[in-house]
Amino acid sequence: MCSYPFDSGGDAPWFRIRYAKVRGASVIRISSLAVVIACLGSVNQAQEWTSVRSPHFVVSTDAGEKRCREVAVRFEQMRLVFEKLLSNDKLTSPVPLQILAFRNSKGFSQIAPLRNGKPDPGIVGVFQTGGDMNFIALDVSTEAGFPVVFHEYAHSVLHANFRRLPLWFDEGVAMYYETAKTVQGHAQIGGTPKYLDTFLYHRALMPVVELFGVTNDAKIYGENSERRQLFYDQSWVVVHYLFDKQKMADFGKYMELTANQHKPIPEAIEAAFHMTPKKFDDEIASYLNLSLRQVFVIDESMSIDESSFVIQPLDPADAEALIANMHWHSTDHHEKGLEEYKEVLSKNLNQVDANLGLGYAALLSKNYDEAETCLRKAASVDKKNARCQFLLGILQLRRSSTDENKQDLLVDAWNHLKAATTISPELAEAHSELAYALSKLGDKDGAIKEATTAARLNQGNERYFLNLAELYFEFKKYEQAKTVFEQLTSSTDRKIAALANQRLETLKTSDVSPNSTAPKQ
Ligand SMILES: [Zn+2]
Repeated sequence: MCSYPFDSGGDAPWFRIRYAKVRGASVIRISSLAVVIACLGSVNQAQEWTSVRSPHFVVSTDAGEKRCREVAVRFEQMRLVFEKLLSNDKLTSPVPLQILAFRNSKGFSQIAPLRNGKPDPGIVGVFQTGGDMNFIALDVSTEAGFPVVFHEYAHSVLHANFRRLPLWFDEGVAMYYETAKTVQGHAQIGGTPKYLDTFLYHRALMPVVELFGVTNDAKIYGENSERRQLFYDQSWVVVHYLFDKQKMADFGKYMELTANQHKPIPEAIEAAFHMTPKKFDDEIASYLNLSLRQVFVIDESMSIDESSFVIQPLDPADAEALIANMHWHSTDHHEKGLEEYKEVLSKNLNQVDANLGLGYAALLSKNYDEAETCLRKAASVDKKNARCQFLLGILQLRRSSTDENKQDLLVDAWNHLKAATTISPELAEAHSELAYALSKLGDKDGAIKEATTAARLNQGNERYFLNLAELYFEFKKYEQAKTVFEQLTSSTDRKIAALANQRLETLKTSDVSPNSTAPKQ
């Protein structure tokens, strides 16, 4: 029996945070930084909180309804531009995103990173990834927080919707989005920040063959140097060029040739873009010399229909729970988040987020009865909460691994996970866990269908592809298993690549005709 590669017992929260400074042309990017709570005081209760639910986002703020709507509109616009520029009919959002917009730096300081033990007053925007949830927090008294938040949001959209994008395209698109701003009431994207032109103008560009070959492992990407800056900025120019010259179809062909057919970069450039790499270099150099580049203006034809927005006042305890969520999803301070959840429940026993937070924490600590009490409480208050149904499903799956009533628990897990995917069809992790439950219940086709859905919804997460391949393998669909494992051998995640190679070796050396018994592992 092959083991399911996703050890759902080991998903302790992890996170990454990026933030923006008020001033300074270049945006600071830090790959890993502890989130430190700047101010441990509770939410300013004198200020009213509001939440706006737009078609794709939920924004919560103490800056008033008008500002809250504006922020929601900006995120909806960004999403719309993504769909237009990347020719993707429907983008998926497989990980829930919580957006907090603080009206001033005092409020924002509650979640701002520290410097020398104090909240860094220069930081005005953060994007934090946290496993089952992502977070954006902004100080909306300034515009300065938006660039880094849009940059990281762009990465999250790209990673969910496209598989194995080359690094230059990933960073180039993120930088393109970083430039979004509002000019005389209209959103604009694709303007040229002064620092980019100034920097690039004085430097010899990298040959595109070299630029296109930079990977996560490359020294140039990791080092803090001019060369790294050149990599970012030139990636931006090339992406801008592709958008302006409407060469996205050519780029699609380039991806097919490099990622799927493993053609060398120079050959792929020539076949996809119909020019030699040298000519491509010349094109980019002259494009950089243009005094005016096309700017994407979001006009009335792309206006967001605000009539569908749902505006709700937030109880102070609800706002505190949202901040506790962000704290708890950080490594160093999720203990503080726990205290905050308890504090919220002391004011309102039925508060949903706090019950979910404590329930999830208990679940991770294997305190299953306590987890159940909290999660059932949340479910009784909010029957249509996808996260609640998802966590109840996980709880029953965990219990099923040790409990005698294995079958009943698996069926209950299936029920809750099914409910989670019905309420929130894009929740990739729920589909993935549902696949696991179905595989344990013996529904092979159902399991493969759900695992396929998880992989489709979050294409940047190769774990879902690995899960799918393992199910094919377990259910003796060896041809399909082989196809997916072969793709995974070039994964940038070395563990996944190693496992894929190992499985392929097993498939090669064993009798794997469909009627044979499973190969020994
Ligand atoms: Zn980036």
